[in-house]
Amino acid sequence: SAKEAGRGTFRFFTMELHEKLMEKTFFEKELRQSLEKEQFLLHYQPQYDLETGRIKGIEALARWKHPDRGYIPPVKFIPVAEENGFILELGEWVLKTACAQAKAWQDEGFPSLRLSVNVSMRQFTQPNFVADVLQILHETGLHPTNLNLEITESIMSDVQQCQCILQDLKNAGISVSVDDFGTGYSSFLYLSKFPISHLKIDRAFINELSKNNTMIVKAIIDLAKNLQLNVIAEGVETEDQEDFLKKLACNEVQGFLYSKPLPQHEIERLLHSHNNNRTP
Ligand code: C2E
Ligand code: MG
Ligand code: MG
Ligand code: MG
Repeated sequence: SAKEAGRGTFRFFTMELHEKLMEKTFFEKELRQSLEKEQFLLHYQPQYDLETGRIKGIEALARWKHPDRGYIPPVKFIPVAEENGFILELGEWVLKTACAQAKAWQDEGFPSLRLSVNVSMRQFTQPNFVADVLQILHETGLHPTNLNLEITESIMSDVQQCQCILQDLKNAGISVSVDDFGTGYSSFLYLSKFPISHLKIDRAFINELSKNNTMIVKAIIDLAKNLQLNVIAEGVETEDQEDFLKKLACNEVQGFLYSKPLPQHEIERLLHSHNNNRTP
């Protein structure tokens, strides 16, 4: 009966909730020791100039390798880490590790490589954020103009505070991209006011180039060009998607068609053998 079905549904949801809660408690406990136990590492995904086919930048992506559970994806641990504040420690570790790595690559013969690092809301709005970033750049020797920070649209909702931080970053020579563009709470006001360098079109639009998405991608690229922002398409998986983006003169592409996020030694191999690789 409907009543029974209803009760079944209710039971299903409570069990699901229970499981989620258990998982959250587990992650919270495990996250606390994860860094000192060296369970975190970074993977790196190249970002290509669509016209020249050259690797312009590399995005660092956090990976948690749990001894019992294997790889736990960022979508699972980032929200927990944001909630309990662990993201501050993790974010600092990511920045330090990625900047040191990028500096090493520069010294190995890739002087103009841009490093992109994702920054969460909680991290970005820390009072000492810009000073901390500059300290890390100083310690690692990476030049500020080689660092790019990826932030999401939601971070920009606190206009006043965000504008100051962005201005400080810009003054220091650090560029900022808007990640997952088109999916957040967005006011176009910030686009004209804020010193940002790149828009990253969310992969949801690229993934399924339906008629509507096609129009949206076209509009975002036009908007970016008119505002003199560079535009990166995320999640490019097929040649059709690439062809479409080429026609619109999208600046950069990133996605499984070119490369998945790779562990350090593999991205290094790709950097060195880049001419032999599939490029846009
Ligand atoms: P994001 O910054 O938008 O990163 C892009 C995500 O899309 C990555 O997932 C990447 O593996 C995936 N991706 C790239 N190309 C393709 C493609 O062609 N197809 C598909 N289906 N996916 C593709 P990942 O590594 O699981 O990261 C997910 C999100 O977690 C990131 O989204 C970012 O918001 C967050 N994240 C990852 N690392 C960090 C970090 O160190 N700090 C912070 N605050 N957030 C992070
Ligand atoms: Mg990103
Ligand atoms: Mg994204
Ligand atoms: Mg994302």
